[in-house]
Amino acid sequence: MKAIPILGELTPGTTQRHLIKLPGDALTNDEPRSVISVAGTKHGPVLFVNAGVHGGEYPAVEAVIRLGKTLDPKKISGTVILMPVLNLPAFRTRTPFLCPIDNVNPNRVFPGDPGGSYSEQMTHALINDFVIHADAYIDLHGGDIPEALVPFVICRSEAGLANSKARDVAARSKEMALAFGLPYVLMVSKPVQPAKGLSSYAAAAEKGIPSILAEAGGVGQMQEEAVELLVNGVVNVMRHLGMIEAGAESAPAKSQIPDSKSQTNSKSKAKKAARRAVATGKASAADAAASTVLTKFEWVYTKRAGMWYPKVAPGDVVSDSEEIGTVGDLFGDTLEKIISPVNGVILFLTINPSVLENGLLMGIGVE
Ligand SMILES: [Zn+2]
Repeated sequence: MKAIPILGELTPGTTQRHLIKLPGDALTNDEPRSVISVAGTKHGPVLFVNAGVHGGEYPAVEAVIRLGKTLDPKKISGTVILMPVLNLPAFRTRTPFLCPIDNVNPNRVFPGDPGGSYSEQMTHALINDFVIHADAYIDLHGGDIPEALVPFVICRSEAGLANSKARDVAARSKEMALAFGLPYVLMVSKPVQPAKGLSSYAAAAEKGIPSILAEAGGVGQMQEEAVELLVNGVVNVMRHLGMIEAGAESAPAKSQIPDSKSQTNSKSKAKKAARRAVATGKASAADAAASTVLTKFEWVYTKRAGMWYPKVAPGDVVSDSEEIGTVGDLFGDTLEKIISPVNGVILFLTINPSVLENGLLMGIGVE
């Protein structure tokens, strides 16, 4: 069977490792990218999963690696294709958000351009050589090196879509997002930042492929809890798509990561977020899998460069007009008070103190 032409023939019932050179003039000298195919013995959908569109989102990368080691091809229907790192130049150089070759954020130029810059050729290859051959697509992310977040899934909203095919793709994407099982699902109808192109999930949806982007973990660390959330989320979506029998236990997500302080911190943060969600009546402790659906993503920026002192944490519920942090100069004087423009929940937060002019500070999800 040839689920994905660039991978060649796949043998049902096996997990295969591939080293793939992506097409594109700008990518000619790239090292080949690792791709794992897990071809089930029974017929079923093709699910494509990647991480590393952003190079410093390590729990997402580890989740894809772990899926390749733990999914049992003899127990699944259909085929799972896994790419741990798309943006290898950023991964190798520990560059957050951007690709260091063209200084472009790849997640703002989907579906790419075969005659464009490095990132545009790379995203074009991802869409055309992988995503469009799949029946469903999951792009795994997290906070990048200077960024902390509360786990959430993004997909495209049905709102404002003109034709019924596009609405159907959006509805199936929403079902996948809810099945993934993170605390928040954010449904957006337009890009959150003006950009040349789209984000991965939106571009895939435009091509007719139901797709989601899931985020967990951050701050440049390997957080076991985030890895497990992402592994389990993909398995949940596979169950939703009928690739794993309902009720069948998935392979345990075996950790090779020793306990660490950061892990304890992320656990206590997640607990805090869960308590807040319970306190605001958005989730019940008894039904931890139910996601709160948010419909607007408000990003907050500083006008001035300086030292950033946030007064909030990921998962915090904030009110319109509330002071949520300050930016100071290098003498210790306050340059700017940062005020929340909405009522909502902090989904991601820049935790690195050095911020640039018009620098991104946080994203707030609004119901
Ligand atoms: Zn990312």
